[in-house]
Amino acid sequence: MSQAKPPFALPMRTLRTVGELRAALAPDRRAGLKIGLVPTMGALHEGHLSLIRRARRQCDRVVVSLFVNPAQFNERSDLEHYPRREQHDTDLAATAGADLLFVPSVEEVYPAGFATSVEVLGVTERLEGAARGSAHFRGVTTVVTKLLGMALPDIAYFGQKDAQQVVVIRHLVRDLNLPVQIETCPTVREPDGLAMSSRNALLTPDERARALALYGALSAAAEHAWSGERSAEALLDTARAAMAPFAVEPEYLALVDPDTLEPVTRLDESALLAVAAHVGAIRLIDNITIHATVPSSRGESHRSTNATGLDGNCGVTDPQIPTSHILRQAISSKEPATCSA
Ligand code: AMP
Repeated sequence: MSQAKPPFALPMRTLRTVGELRAALAPDRRAGLKIGLVPTMGALHEGHLSLIRRARRQCDRVVVSLFVNPAQFNERSDLEHYPRREQHDTDLAATAGADLLFVPSVEEVYPAGFATSVEVLGVTERLEGAARGSAHFRGVTTVVTKLLGMALPDIAYFGQKDAQQVVVIRHLVRDLNLPVQIETCPTVREPDGLAMSSRNALLTPDERARALALYGALSAAAEHAWSGERSAEALLDTARAAMAPFAVEPEYLALVDPDTLEPVTRLDESALLAVAAHVGAIRLIDNITIHATVPSSRGESHRSTNATGLDGNCGVTDPQIPTSHILRQAISSKEPATCSA
Protein backbone atom coordinates (compact mmCIF):
# COMPACT_ATOMS: atom_id res chain seq x y z
CA MET A 1 0.00 0.00 0.00
CA SER A 2 1.42 3.38 -0.95
CA GLN A 3 1.59 6.47 1.27
CA ALA A 4 2.07 8.86 -1.64
CA LYS A 5 2.23 8.58 -5.39
CA PRO A 6 5.58 6.92 -6.06
CA PRO A 7 8.16 9.13 -7.79
CA PHE A 8 8.27 6.73 -10.77
CA ALA A 9 4.48 6.84 -11.21
CA LEU A 10 3.12 7.82 -14.61
CA PRO A 11 1.38 11.17 -15.05
CA MET A 12 -2.37 11.05 -14.60
CA ARG A 13 -4.27 9.92 -17.68
CA THR A 14 -7.77 10.97 -18.73
CA LEU A 15 -9.95 8.15 -20.05
CA ARG A 16 -13.39 8.49 -21.61
CA THR A 17 -14.67 4.99 -22.28
CA VAL A 18 -15.35 1.97 -20.11
CA GLY A 19 -13.14 -0.07 -22.43
CA GLU A 20 -10.17 2.26 -21.88
CA LEU A 21 -10.72 2.21 -18.13
CA ARG A 22 -10.90 -1.59 -17.98
CA ALA A 23 -7.81 -1.93 -20.17
CA ALA A 24 -5.86 0.51 -17.99
CA LEU A 25 -6.78 -1.25 -14.75
CA ALA A 26 -6.55 -4.88 -15.88
CA PRO A 27 -2.75 -5.25 -15.41
CA ASP A 28 -2.97 -3.55 -12.00
CA ARG A 29 -5.70 -5.91 -10.89
CA ARG A 30 -3.73 -8.92 -12.15
CA ALA A 31 -0.72 -7.65 -10.20
CA GLY A 32 -2.85 -7.57 -7.05
CA LEU A 33 -2.66 -3.79 -6.67
CA LYS A 34 -5.27 -2.09 -4.54
CA ILE A 35 -7.59 0.14 -6.58
CA GLY A 36 -9.45 3.10 -5.09
CA LEU A 37 -12.36 4.92 -6.76
CA VAL A 38 -13.50 8.44 -5.94
CA PRO A 39 -16.79 9.16 -7.75
CA THR A 40 -17.50 12.88 -8.26
CA MET A 41 -19.56 15.18 -10.41
CA GLY A 42 -16.57 17.46 -10.92
CA ALA A 43 -16.03 21.15 -10.11
CA LEU A 44 -13.56 19.77 -7.62
CA HIS A 45 -12.86 21.51 -4.32
CA GLU A 46 -11.02 20.64 -1.11
CA GLY A 47 -13.84 18.28 -0.08
CA HIS A 48 -13.27 16.13 -3.17
CA LEU A 49 -9.50 16.45 -2.83
CA SER A 50 -9.64 15.11 0.73
CA LEU A 51 -11.23 11.95 -0.66
CA ILE A 52 -8.59 11.67 -3.40
CA ARG A 53 -5.75 12.18 -0.91
CA ARG A 54 -7.18 9.53 1.37
CA ALA A 55 -7.47 7.13 -1.57
CA ARG A 56 -3.85 7.97 -2.45
CA ARG A 57 -2.73 7.03 1.06
CA GLN A 58 -4.68 3.76 1.11
CA CYS A 59 -4.49 2.49 -2.47
CA ASP A 60 -1.93 1.70 -5.17
CA ARG A 61 -4.10 3.06 -8.01
CA VAL A 62 -6.48 5.97 -7.63
CA VAL A 63 -9.32 6.46 -10.12
CA VAL A 64 -11.36 9.67 -9.96
CA SER A 65 -14.55 9.79 -11.99
CA LEU A 66 -16.07 13.04 -13.24
CA PHE A 67 -19.63 12.55 -14.35
CA VAL A 68 -22.52 14.96 -13.94
CA ASN A 69 -25.19 12.31 -13.71
CA PRO A 70 -28.42 13.57 -15.31
CA ALA A 71 -30.41 10.75 -13.70
CA GLN A 72 -30.01 12.16 -10.19
CA PHE A 73 -31.09 15.74 -10.94
CA ASN A 74 -34.71 16.48 -10.20
CA GLU A 75 -34.56 20.02 -11.59
CA ARG A 76 -33.53 20.66 -15.17
CA SER A 77 -32.11 24.11 -14.35
CA ASP A 78 -29.92 22.61 -11.59
CA LEU A 79 -28.48 20.16 -14.14
CA GLU A 80 -28.00 22.87 -16.76
CA HIS A 81 -26.27 25.27 -14.36
CA TYR A 82 -24.19 22.65 -12.56
CA PRO A 83 -20.56 23.85 -12.85
CA ARG A 84 -18.41 21.97 -15.36
CA ARG A 85 -14.65 22.63 -15.25
CA GLU A 86 -12.77 19.72 -16.72
CA GLN A 87 -9.39 21.43 -17.11
CA HIS A 88 -9.48 22.79 -13.57
CA ASP A 89 -10.53 19.33 -12.31
CA THR A 90 -7.77 17.64 -14.29
CA ASP A 91 -5.12 19.86 -12.68
CA LEU A 92 -6.50 19.42 -9.15
CA ALA A 93 -7.02 15.65 -9.41
CA ALA A 94 -3.48 15.17 -10.72
CA THR A 95 -2.01 17.28 -7.92
CA ALA A 96 -4.00 15.39 -5.28
CA GLY A 97 -2.52 12.13 -6.56
CA ALA A 98 -5.03 10.56 -8.97
CA ASP A 99 -3.64 8.07 -11.49
CA LEU A 100 -6.67 7.94 -13.79
CA LEU A 101 -9.37 10.50 -14.44
CA PHE A 102 -12.45 8.81 -15.88
CA VAL A 103 -14.66 11.28 -17.75
CA PRO A 104 -17.36 9.34 -19.60
CA SER A 105 -19.99 11.02 -21.75
CA VAL A 106 -23.68 10.65 -20.95
CA GLU A 107 -23.93 8.27 -23.95
CA GLU A 108 -21.11 6.12 -22.58
CA VAL A 109 -22.89 5.71 -19.23
CA TYR A 110 -26.43 5.51 -20.61
CA PRO A 111 -26.15 4.12 -24.15
CA ALA A 112 -29.22 3.82 -26.37
CA GLY A 113 -31.44 1.07 -25.02
CA PHE A 114 -30.26 1.46 -21.42
CA ALA A 115 -33.13 0.04 -19.34
CA THR A 116 -31.90 -0.92 -15.88
CA SER A 117 -32.12 0.87 -12.59
CA VAL A 118 -31.00 0.01 -9.09
CA GLU A 119 -33.13 1.16 -6.18
CA VAL A 120 -32.63 1.00 -2.43
CA LEU A 121 -35.92 1.23 -0.54
CA GLY A 122 -36.59 2.65 2.93
CA VAL A 123 -33.63 4.89 3.73
CA THR A 124 -34.03 6.63 0.38
CA GLU A 125 -37.57 7.71 1.22
CA ARG A 126 -36.61 10.24 3.90
CA LEU A 127 -34.77 13.58 3.90
CA GLU A 128 -33.31 14.07 0.38
CA GLY A 129 -35.55 11.35 -1.04
CA ALA A 130 -38.67 12.98 0.36
CA ALA A 131 -37.55 16.42 -0.81
CA ARG A 132 -36.23 15.51 -4.26
CA GLY A 133 -38.36 12.51 -5.17
CA SER A 134 -37.49 8.82 -5.57
CA ALA A 135 -35.77 9.38 -8.93
CA HIS A 136 -32.89 11.19 -7.20
CA PHE A 137 -31.51 8.26 -5.22
CA ARG A 138 -32.46 5.82 -7.99
CA GLY A 139 -30.17 7.90 -10.18
CA VAL A 140 -27.43 7.87 -7.54
CA THR A 141 -27.59 4.14 -6.81
CA THR A 142 -27.79 3.23 -10.49
CA VAL A 143 -24.76 5.32 -11.44
CA VAL A 144 -22.73 4.23 -8.40
CA THR A 145 -23.47 0.57 -9.18
CA LYS A 146 -22.34 1.20 -12.75
CA LEU A 147 -19.15 3.01 -11.71
CA LEU A 148 -18.32 0.20 -9.28
CA GLY A 149 -18.89 -2.28 -12.11
CA MET A 150 -16.72 -0.27 -14.49
CA ALA A 151 -13.72 0.27 -12.21
CA LEU A 152 -14.13 -2.74 -9.88
CA PRO A 153 -12.36 -0.87 -7.06
CA ASP A 154 -11.28 -2.44 -3.79
CA ILE A 155 -12.29 0.72 -1.95
CA ALA A 156 -14.70 3.51 -2.93
CA TYR A 157 -14.63 6.89 -1.17
CA PHE A 158 -17.61 9.07 -0.27
CA GLY A 159 -18.06 12.23 1.79
CA GLN A 160 -20.07 12.57 4.99
CA LYS A 161 -21.26 15.86 3.50
CA ASP A 162 -23.84 13.68 1.72
CA ALA A 163 -24.64 11.66 4.83
CA GLN A 164 -27.78 10.03 3.48
CA GLN A 165 -25.98 9.05 0.28
CA VAL A 166 -23.40 7.19 2.38
CA VAL A 167 -26.15 5.33 4.28
CA VAL A 168 -27.84 4.43 0.99
CA ILE A 169 -24.61 3.26 -0.66
CA ARG A 170 -23.66 1.14 2.33
CA HIS A 171 -27.11 -0.50 2.04
CA LEU A 172 -26.64 -1.01 -1.69
CA VAL A 173 -23.23 -2.64 -1.25
CA ARG A 174 -24.43 -4.87 1.57
CA ASP A 175 -27.72 -5.87 -0.08
CA LEU A 176 -26.14 -6.70 -3.45
CA ASN A 177 -22.98 -8.29 -1.94
CA LEU A 178 -20.81 -5.94 -3.97
CA PRO A 179 -17.14 -6.72 -3.30
CA VAL A 180 -16.05 -3.22 -2.35
CA GLN A 181 -15.17 -1.45 0.87
CA ILE A 182 -16.89 1.90 1.43
CA GLU A 183 -14.85 4.61 3.15
CA THR A 184 -16.46 7.78 4.46
CA CYS A 185 -14.48 11.03 4.78
CA PRO A 186 -15.47 13.94 7.03
CA THR A 187 -17.03 17.10 5.69
CA VAL A 188 -14.50 19.75 4.67
CA ARG A 189 -15.64 23.28 5.44
CA GLU A 190 -14.71 26.84 4.59
CA PRO A 191 -13.06 28.70 7.50
CA ASP A 192 -16.43 30.19 8.49
CA GLY A 193 -18.06 26.77 8.60
CA LEU A 194 -19.88 26.59 5.26
CA ALA A 195 -19.61 23.04 3.94
CA MET A 196 -17.68 23.02 0.68
CA SER A 197 -19.88 22.24 -2.29
CA SER A 198 -19.57 22.62 -6.04
CA ARG A 199 -22.79 24.64 -5.88
CA ASN A 200 -21.18 27.27 -3.60
CA ALA A 201 -19.53 28.74 -6.70
CA LEU A 202 -23.02 29.65 -7.96
CA LEU A 203 -23.88 31.78 -4.90
CA THR A 204 -23.84 35.58 -5.19
CA PRO A 205 -21.82 37.36 -2.45
CA ASP A 206 -25.03 38.10 -0.58
CA GLU A 207 -26.21 34.48 -0.86
CA ARG A 208 -22.77 33.27 0.20
CA ALA A 209 -23.18 35.21 3.45
CA ARG A 210 -26.71 33.90 3.96
CA ALA A 211 -25.58 30.33 3.24
CA LEU A 212 -23.99 30.35 6.67
CA ALA A 213 -27.53 29.77 7.97
CA LEU A 214 -27.08 26.02 7.51
CA TYR A 215 -23.91 25.72 9.58
CA GLY A 216 -25.38 28.22 12.04
CA ALA A 217 -28.38 25.94 12.57
CA LEU A 218 -26.23 22.85 13.05
CA SER A 219 -23.74 24.45 15.41
CA ALA A 220 -26.43 26.17 17.50
CA ALA A 221 -28.21 22.84 18.01
CA ALA A 222 -24.91 21.11 18.87
CA GLU A 223 -24.15 23.74 21.50
CA HIS A 224 -27.63 23.36 22.94
CA ALA A 225 -27.16 19.59 23.13
CA TRP A 226 -23.85 20.06 24.92
CA SER A 227 -25.54 22.28 27.46
CA GLY A 228 -27.66 19.25 28.35
CA GLU A 229 -30.76 19.54 26.16
CA ARG A 230 -32.02 16.14 25.01
CA SER A 231 -35.38 16.94 23.45
CA ALA A 232 -35.28 16.76 19.64
CA GLU A 233 -38.04 19.34 19.44
CA ALA A 234 -36.05 21.82 21.54
CA LEU A 235 -32.87 21.21 19.52
CA LEU A 236 -34.72 21.65 16.24
CA ASP A 237 -36.32 24.86 17.55
CA THR A 238 -32.84 26.15 18.37
CA ALA A 239 -31.58 25.24 14.91
CA ARG A 240 -34.55 26.90 13.22
CA ALA A 241 -34.14 30.05 15.31
CA ALA A 242 -30.48 30.24 14.29
CA MET A 243 -31.48 30.25 10.62
CA ALA A 244 -34.06 33.02 10.95
CA PRO A 245 -31.60 35.99 10.99
CA PHE A 246 -30.23 34.83 7.65
CA ALA A 247 -33.70 34.82 6.08
CA VAL A 248 -33.19 31.21 5.01
CA GLU A 249 -36.06 28.71 5.40
CA PRO A 250 -35.13 25.07 5.84
CA GLU A 251 -36.62 22.72 3.28
CA TYR A 252 -36.13 20.11 5.96
CA LEU A 253 -34.37 20.13 9.30
CA ALA A 254 -34.39 16.77 11.02
CA LEU A 255 -32.75 14.93 13.88
CA VAL A 256 -32.56 11.30 12.84
CA ASP A 257 -30.99 7.99 13.72
CA PRO A 258 -27.64 7.91 11.84
CA ASP A 259 -28.28 4.39 10.47
CA THR A 260 -32.01 4.18 9.81
CA LEU A 261 -32.56 7.93 9.25
CA GLU A 262 -35.79 7.60 11.27
CA PRO A 263 -36.60 10.74 13.27
CA VAL A 264 -35.63 10.59 16.95
CA THR A 265 -37.51 12.37 19.71
CA ARG A 266 -34.62 12.35 22.18
CA LEU A 267 -30.87 12.58 21.86
CA ASP A 268 -29.67 9.51 23.73
CA GLU A 269 -26.19 8.84 22.35
CA SER A 270 -25.76 10.42 18.96
CA ALA A 271 -28.01 11.50 16.15
CA LEU A 272 -27.63 13.00 12.70
CA LEU A 273 -28.88 16.55 12.34
CA ALA A 274 -29.51 17.19 8.65
CA VAL A 275 -30.62 20.33 6.89
CA ALA A 276 -31.48 21.37 3.34
CA ALA A 277 -32.35 24.88 2.23
CA HIS A 278 -32.52 27.04 -0.84
CA VAL A 279 -30.37 30.15 -0.64
CA GLY A 280 -31.66 32.13 -3.57
CA ALA A 281 -31.91 29.61 -6.38
CA ILE A 282 -29.17 27.36 -5.00
CA ARG A 283 -30.09 24.32 -2.95
CA LEU A 284 -27.59 23.44 -0.22
CA ILE A 285 -27.43 20.57 2.25
CA ASP A 286 -25.37 20.01 5.39
CA ASN A 287 -25.33 17.77 8.43
CA ILE A 288 -23.48 16.95 11.62
CA THR A 289 -23.60 14.11 14.06
CA ILE A 290 -24.59 15.47 17.45
CA HIS A 291 -23.41 13.64 20.53
CA ALA A 292 -25.06 13.76 23.90
CA THR A 293 -21.65 14.36 25.43
CA VAL A 294 -19.19 17.22 25.04
CA PRO A 295 -16.10 16.62 22.88
CA SER A 296 -12.65 16.62 24.49
CA SER A 297 -11.58 19.87 22.89
CA ARG A 298 -14.17 21.57 25.07
CA GLY A 299 -12.28 20.36 28.12
CA GLU A 300 -15.14 18.51 29.80
CA SER A 301 -15.81 14.86 30.48
CA HIS A 302 -17.07 13.00 27.44
CA ARG A 303 -17.19 9.77 25.56
CA SER A 304 -16.74 11.13 22.09
CA THR A 305 -13.47 12.58 20.83
CA ASN A 306 -14.88 14.24 17.75
CA ALA A 307 -17.62 16.81 17.84
CA THR A 308 -18.88 15.73 14.49
CA GLY A 309 -18.76 12.04 15.19
CA LEU A 310 -16.85 11.48 11.99
CA ASP A 311 -13.92 9.25 11.52
CA GLY A 312 -11.67 12.18 11.43
CA ASN A 313 -8.44 11.76 9.48
CA CYS A 314 -9.23 12.92 6.00
CA GLY A 315 -7.92 16.30 4.88
CA VAL A 316 -9.03 19.57 6.42
CA THR A 317 -12.08 18.46 8.28
CA ASP A 318 -15.19 19.54 10.05
CA PRO A 319 -14.13 22.07 12.64
CA GLN A 320 -15.15 21.11 16.13
CA ILE A 321 -18.70 22.31 16.09
CA PRO A 322 -19.37 24.99 18.47
CA THR A 323 -20.73 28.17 17.04
CA SER A 324 -17.85 30.19 15.65
CA HIS A 325 -17.51 33.75 16.83
CA ILE A 326 -18.64 34.91 13.41
CA LEU A 327 -21.87 33.00 13.78
CA ARG A 328 -22.29 34.04 17.37
CA GLN A 329 -22.04 37.63 16.28
CA ALA A 330 -24.41 37.07 13.40
CA ILE A 331 -27.00 35.27 15.45
CA SER A 332 -26.90 37.67 18.38
CA SER A 333 -27.12 40.73 16.17
CA LYS A 334 -29.95 39.02 14.24
CA GLU A 335 -28.18 39.72 11.00
CA PRO A 336 -25.86 37.68 8.83
CA ALA A 337 -22.34 38.71 9.85
CA THR A 338 -21.04 39.31 6.37
CA CYS A 339 -24.28 39.84 4.53
CA SER A 340 -24.34 42.93 2.39
CA ALA A 341 -27.14 45.37 3.06
P1 AMP B 1 -20.22 15.48 -5.76
O1 AMP B 1 -19.23 15.89 -6.78
O2 AMP B 1 -20.94 16.61 -5.11
O3 AMP B 1 -21.13 14.38 -6.23
O4 AMP B 1 -19.37 14.83 -4.57
C1 AMP B 1 -18.49 13.77 -4.82
C2 AMP B 1 -18.07 13.20 -3.49
O5 AMP B 1 -17.41 14.21 -2.74
C3 AMP B 1 -19.27 12.74 -2.64
O6 AMP B 1 -18.93 11.54 -1.99
C4 AMP B 1 -19.45 13.87 -1.68
O7 AMP B 1 -20.04 13.49 -0.46
C5 AMP B 1 -18.02 14.31 -1.47
N1 AMP B 1 -17.99 15.69 -0.99
C6 AMP B 1 -18.60 16.76 -1.53
N2 AMP B 1 -18.40 17.86 -0.78
C7 AMP B 1 -17.64 17.47 0.27
C8 AMP B 1 -17.11 18.14 1.42
N3 AMP B 1 -17.32 19.43 1.64
N4 AMP B 1 -16.38 17.42 2.29
C9 AMP B 1 -16.16 16.09 2.08
N5 AMP B 1 -16.65 15.40 1.03
C10 AMP B 1 -17.38 16.08 0.13
